[in-house]
Amino acid sequence: MIEVLKLLTTLQQIDHELAMLNFKNQEIPKKIEGMKLTINSVRDDLEKGKQQLQEFKKQYKLAELEQKSVDEKIVQYSVQLYQAKTNEQYKAFLKEIDAQKAAKVKIEDQMIENMEQSEAIEKKIQMLAKELAEVESETQSKISVLEQEAKEILQAIKTRQEERRRIVENLSKDIIGVYERIKKGKGGLALAIIEDERCTGCLNPIPPQIVLEIKKGERLYFCDYCGRILACPTT
Ligand SMILES: [Zn+2]
Repeated sequence: MIEVLKLLTTLQQIDHELAMLNFKNQEIPKKIEGMKLTINSVRDDLEKGKQQLQEFKKQYKLAELEQKSVDEKIVQYSVQLYQAKTNEQYKAFLKEIDAQKAAKVKIEDQMIENMEQSEAIEKKIQMLAKELAEVESETQSKISVLEQEAKEILQAIKTRQEERRRIVENLSKDIIGVYERIKKGKGGLALAIIEDERCTGCLNPIPPQIVLEIKKGERLYFCDYCGRILACPTT
């Protein structure tokens, strides 16, 4: 039984390592996914900025057309002003010209505002494009490191599984069954070492007589309190 306890101790160590490796292995795709989300968010902002800029440019072109049409109207009314036959007609054309001039000022103000906004968006686009390039290259190298890590973890898992298989081969089905059952019920730890006459699984005392029995190695002993398989540090 001393040999069995030794094998079970190693098996427990391997199972613990496998649990850690599997956890790490599951975390890597999540980390990569998170990084991709960051890239996508910067990319979306950049795309939005480009669309906004296009919209401003379109509005500017429309304002230019409007400006041209107002200019034409001013010329038209000015010609008509000279041809006015009555004082009322003259006043009416003058009023029209003033109205068109006021409209022109308004359009030009909008055009200036539009240009300022376009410039601000262009700056934002440049900034976002730079940020995107940086985030992409940074993320790419981080992803490469994580992918390499994932490969190493998979290799380590394979090695541990092989070691585990060899240990299991050397244990009886009954003992493996007991080990697996306690492991499942006790959150991973099926075997507890006795230290200072206490079970390290639950910290309850173990009679010295039991320690001696375990050292004799005639059969398996279990902790009366937590039910784990007991082993001595020397076994
Ligand atoms: Zn215990």
